[in-house]
Amino acid sequence: MDEWISGNWDWCREPIGIAEVEEFRGLLQLCQGVKLRHGDDKVVWLGDEVGGFSVPNFKEKISRNAYSEPGFVFEWNRLVPRKVSFVAWWAALGRLSTRDTLIKRNIPVSSIVCPICSDLEESVEHIFISCGFAQSLWSVISLWCKVPTFLLFSFRDLLELHKFSEFSKDKAKVFQAVCLIAT
Ligand SMILES: [Zn+2]
Repeated sequence: MDEWISGNWDWCREPIGIAEVEEFRGLLQLCQGVKLRHGDDKVVWLGDEVGGFSVPNFKEKISRNAYSEPGFVFEWNRLVPRKVSFVAWWAALGRLSTRDTLIKRNIPVSSIVCPICSDLEESVEHIFISCGFAQSLWSVISLWCKVPTFLLFSFRDLLELHKFSEFSKDKAKVFQAVCLIAT
């Protein structure tokens, strides 16, 4: 029998500041609609409506080019502090409290414009990808790491850059760590 998650919060302290309140709100959203079931956990393949994986079904989806990644999976990196990964993960989910999202949530901000370049709206994509400052930073990092100039269209591109490098597995992890720290 399914059971909704319910209970009372037993805080050591209440969430403080916009970032913590946003994180808490994000947690509540993740838990919304989640039902707990009795019995063992099981692995479900999201590429099929029934949830059961089969090679013929997978081959058929590939042949129809119909398979698409059901959801973004953030790749954690043990070489960087957890809070560094957490910021990148939060940004990839679009939950970082940038000015554009604050305004959407009716939280007053002095301006929606990026305070660094004063050119465009401050959003995750802007501050990490399209802002002139960010582009200069990635340019320096690409030279330092001796990789081709980054060609990025989204923040998630940045998080997956190491997968397309010519580095060995270990060096790719270090390269990923450099990118994460730079964010
Ligand atoms: Zn900017």
